[in-house]
Amino acid sequence: MTPIRKIGIIGSGQMGNGIAHVIALAGYDVVLTDLTKEKVDKAIELIDRNLTRQVASGKITEEDRKQALSRITYAENYQGLSDADLVIEAATEDETVKRKIFVALCPFLKPEAIVATNTSSISITRLAAATDRPERFIGLHFMNPVPVMELVEMIRGIATEDVTFAKAREFVGTLGKTTAVSEDFPAFMVNRILLPMINEAVYTLYEGVGSVDAIDTAMRLGAHHPMGPLQLADFIGLDTCLSIMQVLYEGLADSKYRPCPLLVKYVEAGWLGRKTKRGFYDYRGEKPMPTR
Ligand code: NAD
Repeated sequence: MTPIRKIGIIGSGQMGNGIAHVIALAGYDVVLTDLTKEKVDKAIELIDRNLTRQVASGKITEEDRKQALSRITYAENYQGLSDADLVIEAATEDETVKRKIFVALCPFLKPEAIVATNTSSISITRLAAATDRPERFIGLHFMNPVPVMELVEMIRGIATEDVTFAKAREFVGTLGKTTAVSEDFPAFMVNRILLPMINEAVYTLYEGVGSVDAIDTAMRLGAHHPMGPLQLADFIGLDTCLSIMQVLYEGLADSKYRPCPLLVKYVEAGWLGRKTKRGFYDYRGEKPMPTR
């Protein structure tokens, strides 16, 4: 087995930048790409801020921060990923977008390179079929925020070879993360359980059972969840939440997974949560204010 040294990451949004942060800190070289250089520049700035916070809290040293940042570079196109041993796709949760990425990416990769997707819900087997290497394709589902969360869900597609799985598991271990293995079913384990709860919270709001504040307070204090479900939805991104519910609804063909119309409305308005500064809360002021 060739060792993993260099990792390409496609998509430098919330997840891509978190994954780059953790991987660079673990000593690997990272090449980050996105639709524009501006997005990657912004991601690297954010990684620097997050590393600086870790230095301030004593979790890492100033030297660790400098070293990690120096290992992250930008690639303008997939040619820049041609010497990667592993590529992790962390672009928008949309099957068409991801398929197009894999079709464009694969011709540039080394034959032995492994391709992973960070999808929250989409079939690994179906995504693997868009590549030239289904046997070296795997789901590595990091959790948000990546530097804080301990888990990586691992999902094999139907064709994923044992050696790919073993190599990916060993790699995740070197990041200090724990793995949980899921079969390739819609939304895997974490989101199969988590997203219907969030969707139900949106229904609870939609039907007027409680306000944003009442629902989140109820679940924080009544069920000891660290975040209320609507706060969590804003944190995940409402577009991502909606995509996951659609994958569950279509993939399992059960009406219990139908996305709440209010969730659809927020996404249609472009109110996607924290990343657009408005969702179930408005983040433009000093303090998040409920929007309902
Ligand atoms: P995001 O919206 O913050 O970032 C997505 C990034 O992908 C954006 O920067 C966008 O410009 C980029 N992108 C879109 N099309 C692209 C393309 N063709 N080539 C390169 N880059 C492209 O979303 P996110 O929250 O980072 O989610 C990314 C992936 O991670 C999704 O598959 C999502 O389901 C998964 N995920 C999200 C969470 C979460 O809590 N948000 C948790 C685990 C996994």
